[in-house]
Amino acid sequence: MRVSQLLNPTLREVPAEAEVLSHQLMVRAGLIRKSTAGVYTYLPLALRVLRKIEAIVREEMDAKGGQELLLPIMQPAELWKESGRWAVYGAELFRLQDRHNREFCLGPTHEEIITDLVRGEVRSYKQLPLLLYQIQNKYRDERRPRFGLMRGREFVMKDLYSFDRDEAGLAESYQKMFEAYCRIFARCGLAYRAVEADAGAIGGTGGTHEFMVLADSGENAVVYCPECNYAANVEKAECRPQALEGVPPEGQRKLVLTPDVKTIEDISVFLAVPKTTLVKSLLYQGDQKLFLVLLRGDRALNETKLNNALGGFVSLQLASPEEVEQILGCKPGFVGPVEVPAGLLVIADEEVPLMKRAVCGANKADYHFVDTVPSRDFRIDQVFDLRMMEPGEACLKCGVPLQEARGIEVGQVFKLGTKYSKALGATFLDENGEERFCVMGCYGIGVSRSMAAAIEQNHDDYGIIWPMPIAPYQCIIVPVSTKDAFVVETVEKLYLQLQRLGVEVVLDDRDERAGVKFKDADLVGYPLRVTIGSKTLANGQVELRERKTGETKLVPVEEVAAQVKIIIEKALEY
Ligand code: ATP
Ligand code: MG
Repeated sequence: MRVSQLLNPTLREVPAEAEVLSHQLMVRAGLIRKSTAGVYTYLPLALRVLRKIEAIVREEMDAKGGQELLLPIMQPAELWKESGRWAVYGAELFRLQDRHNREFCLGPTHEEIITDLVRGEVRSYKQLPLLLYQIQNKYRDERRPRFGLMRGREFVMKDLYSFDRDEAGLAESYQKMFEAYCRIFARCGLAYRAVEADAGAIGGTGGTHEFMVLADSGENAVVYCPECNYAANVEKAECRPQALEGVPPEGQRKLVLTPDVKTIEDISVFLAVPKTTLVKSLLYQGDQKLFLVLLRGDRALNETKLNNALGGFVSLQLASPEEVEQILGCKPGFVGPVEVPAGLLVIADEEVPLMKRAVCGANKADYHFVDTVPSRDFRIDQVFDLRMMEPGEACLKCGVPLQEARGIEVGQVFKLGTKYSKALGATFLDENGEERFCVMGCYGIGVSRSMAAAIEQNHDDYGIIWPMPIAPYQCIIVPVSTKDAFVVETVEKLYLQLQRLGVEVVLDDRDERAGVKFKDADLVGYPLRVTIGSKTLANGQVELRERKTGETKLVPVEEVAAQVKIIIEKALEY
């Protein structure tokens, strides 16, 4: 391809609306253009990257026995009503009606449709296991579409669904997909980590991992053990309760005046006590029910754990100041667990009952209690692990201090069990002629998000640094001058030669200054650049530069094609 013909509108300025680097760089490098919030056009170079990721995904899915199919994007509401998700999926589901007022949605995911297919076509255990997948657009009306392709409302996903006879079969399918995912992200040239994850709203029989591309800009915090292979999303990471030293108070709790304090920070300063001796009391609201949540003052609440502990709410949020006033008769800063109304459920993190002496709100404006003993003074109804893991805490498996990293979720594997096969009646006859429910798993990869994640992980001040396996083109030839006939002739020859060798090559034949061409080549991020100028060519040499290392060397012109080919082959080895 010749750059003069390529639709690759690069920009020098950073686009104002792009918050993250991958988004900025994709716009500046002429890869994407916004259509509307969370919806993008992929220009030719971006599509090449997308197709390469898809090709790797396909190969690895097929290698595990996956069969590709294509499911409809437009799905009838009836199926979603059968699974119960029409009511619970909420505002993220794009809903529409046809001319007869029949309801439909645009698929945000395809469990219903695929289960409907399988219930119609599978009769016998002999047809199982089945691993069915597609690579296709998904639609989610995200609350905050942002970061370009990272969180779109229309995006490309690979989704595979496994159907097995039993849990053992599911475990095997899950393992296959886990291995395939590891190969996919490694083959894409990405540094990633598989982490234990929260099962969240999809439910299922448990067992789920997320695949995180490691990048400082990632939305997810993960903890990992440098010693054993334990790694988890912080949402999921189980904590071991820590009991601190301390002496119980001699007498009863005392009421103290604490005017104007609003936060744990304030009260800690006002009373000159460490946060570890405070109790954080939060009034929460979930599906119209209220409950009081207790944590040690230095800890952060993990809302995911809270939601799971209570059985899963559609809406979980802090109660409003008005609700706090109504139930406990004070402002949120003075809420505490002493003598709370009988009907109010009190749930505590495991560390709270271990506290020997604590300060807490008194449910009275401008007052706190000091010298309370949680096991004596509080009514605690239920105890759970409710807090956020902190880096440096001991690994539950091997005791080594955990480390923290940030990650972008590019994939998730999930054991669904019989949730959907039961809801929709996807059964088969086993060896004894008995009817049983298919045991399912689902496995997603954000293909378009992976492209953005690759950029978050691989860039510098000058632009994108594509890993070779997913680069839009592997090599660019830049003639320093388009006036020198010998340069032009050499360039054309090399261009042909590289194409014959199967190298994906572009030729920057534009009548531009060399500096402009170099800037664009760096911005777009071609892994290899061959520069041909009159001066070096007079000595029979051209310059070969690797984008990633910046390493530049002079190579005899007749050897450069072979060298380029070798570098590429080596980079594609896996
Ligand atoms: P997130 O927590 O980031 O919203 P999710 O858990 O809802 O993602 P899944 O339903 O597991 O996502 O979808 C599978 C994969 O699809 C995710 O791992 C992610 O890579 C990708 N993905 C999900 N939502 C989006 C989106 N809005 N834009 C781009 N990719 C997405
Ligand atoms: Mg997910």
